[in-house]
Parts: sequence; C-alpha cells; structure tokens
Amino acid sequence: MSDADTIYNAPSSLKSKVWKKFGFYMKNGALDKTVAICKQCGTALKYTGSTTNLNTHLVRRHGKTGDEEASTVSKASTKTWQDTDIQDFFQPKFSHNSARAKVVTASITRFIVKVLRPYSVVQNEGFRDMIKTLEPR
Ligand SMILES: [Zn+2]
Repeated sequence: MSDADTIYNAPSSLKSKVWKKFGFYMKNGALDKTVAICKQCGTALKYTGSTTNLNTHLVRRHGKTGDEEASTVSKASTKTWQDTDIQDFFQPKFSHNSARAKVVTASITRFIVKVLRPYSVVQNEGFRDMIKTLEPR
C-alpha cells in the first residue's frame, strides 16, 4: 500500500463539515488539495475551494449531506385533536320535537315504566348524569 492509496484527513483549516467525509491523497510529500477523496467510496472530486460539489456527491451517492445534524427523517404527518371537526363538540341541543329527542324521551319513558319508578327519577342527579353521558343534547 503506497501513500497514493491513503486518504488523509483534511487539514483543520478546512471548516466545512463535509471534510469529515472527504480527505486528500498525499502527492509529492504534500496533500493534494485540488482533489477531494470521498472516504466512503473513494471517488475523487475536483476541489476548487467550494464544497458544493462535495455535498452534492454525498447527497447523490450516499443520501446525506456532510452536516451530521441535518435530519433526513421526514416529519410524520400526525393528526391531533385540533384537527377534529370542532362542530362535533358544539352541536346545538335537540329541539323538543326532533326525532332523536322523541326516541330518547320514549326510551326514558320505557325505562321508568319498566322499573316502576316515579317520574321524579328524571330529576335524580345520577340519572341525569347518565343521560348526559349517553346523549349530551
Ligand atoms: Zn462517496
């Protein structure tokens, strides 16, 4: 293995994060900074002082940039309660002659008749709470 095959780390004077992914070959006892070498695949890229093409290589060939902090995870589209149709929470009360009100009233009446409880049961707090839970309107 000769020096020509060894990828040397870029000097610390090169601040860009892409230099964690690229290095240089040694040439005649000095780093050849005209050609950046990808540490992952060994591809030689001409370096002219701009890291744009180096980043492009990382994105195209390795699916990431030199920026480790960059998240490639796409934000999951999560549905929150705020997406729920607010109308569901603020439905108007049934009018007394609505079909639903009649059905509920008839059902309550049957309940009272069956258990032979006086009509005052509808004033009972527990009963009212139960009905409110079943049908808030
Ligand atoms: Zn590469």
